[in-house]
Amino acid sequence: MKKVEKHSVYMGRLSHGADLLEELNRLCGESNIQCGRVEAIGAVQRACLGYYDQSRREYKFNTIDAPLEILKLSGNVSIKDGTPMVHVHITLADENGRAFGGHLGPGTIIFACECIIESFEGPAFQRIHDEQTGLPLWGI
Ligand code: ZN
Repeated sequence: MKKVEKHSVYMGRLSHGADLLEELNRLCGESNIQCGRVEAIGAVQRACLGYYDQSRREYKFNTIDAPLEILKLSGNVSIKDGTPMVHVHITLADENGRAFGGHLGPGTIIFACECIIESFEGPAFQRIHDEQTGLPLWGI
């Protein structure tokens, strides 16, 4: 573990119709947030959820083409290939309250979203290829 200091907290509403993952990456890039924590609630028009197949070492993406509530979006910001990268997981619910979740993929379209991003100061967390998992993990 590395110690980081809380620096700034950003709070805002994300744009209706925008791609949720692209919007989070854009906001972190614009505000130069290189290390931080992301959380949000709201609703999406459709979702693309990833599941990492540990034996195949690849993501499988499932699209849910329906309006869903964002029960919880939670994740972090670190550096990959020299630029800020948002990594978030999301739990969603349908009209009957059934929940779905996974790694947030591109293609998840915002209906409404209230987001809080905490920016930290401290050592850079660089994502590098991890041999054991096949994932780009923090090189600590
Ligand atoms: Zn993930």
